[in-house]
Amino acid sequence: MDVGGLAELDRRITGCRACPRLVEWREDVARTKRAAFADETYWGRPVPGFGPADASLLIVGLAPAAHGANRTGRMFTGDRSGDVLYAALHDVGLASRGTAVSADDGLELYGVRITSPVHCAPPANKPTPDERDACRPWLVRELELLRPSLRAVVVLGAFGWQAALPAFAAAGWAVPRPRPAFAHGARLTLGSPLESGPRRESGSPLASGSIELFGCFHVSQRNTFTGRLTPAMLRDVLYAAADAAGLPTKPYPG
Ligand code: SF4
Repeated sequence: MDVGGLAELDRRITGCRACPRLVEWREDVARTKRAAFADETYWGRPVPGFGPADASLLIVGLAPAAHGANRTGRMFTGDRSGDVLYAALHDVGLASRGTAVSADDGLELYGVRITSPVHCAPPANKPTPDERDACRPWLVRELELLRPSLRAVVVLGAFGWQAALPAFAAAGWAVPRPRPAFAHGARLTLGSPLESGPRRESGSPLASGSIELFGCFHVSQRNTFTGRLTPAMLRDVLYAAADAAGLPTKPYPG
């Protein structure tokens, strides 16, 4: 994919119309709206990644929510899933505030970028395999652009995990075969065959350019309302990932 830097990539993503079903859905939702947001102008377009271009930690979700990011135009902004995610990021010291209500609310991420393998809101939060595959080149290019600074990745949920592993492979990282299954608390190292730096001694798998990949249950209402994913569980994953990414954090609570 021939695009310039990350800002140019983000700009191009917002103009994508490759998936007819998703284009129709996202624009229909933006026209009909939810009653609580009847006075707002919905974004109604693909939602690009959010966070600095030199992020060392990447969080990969699933897809924008119809009345969340598809309304506000920023990842995980304006819905309950984002409330949980940004509160945890703030608790850990990776975000300037614990709430995300609109694209111009001043929220900053510290060394963290948030993206998704599908950039358009899908009906019932379920993209098809064809839509996932159609959107993959955007994620591959984002990973390639983040490569110089990227050290760790948190993938939220099994869909993101299945979508992200082929993207990491396409972007040049060594993904084990067979591909590791998703699990909350899963952690693995993806080596970078494109880097020629010497491997560390004593059998450490960490070579120059490697990244640490973490699995975490998705911050969906289904998971957070039922206690399948608690704020403490999410914070634990973020602390471990921030440590792997070399990011400073607040003291661990308690
Ligand atoms: Fe384009 Fe991805 Fe949206 Fe499909 S899901 S229209 S590939 S941005």
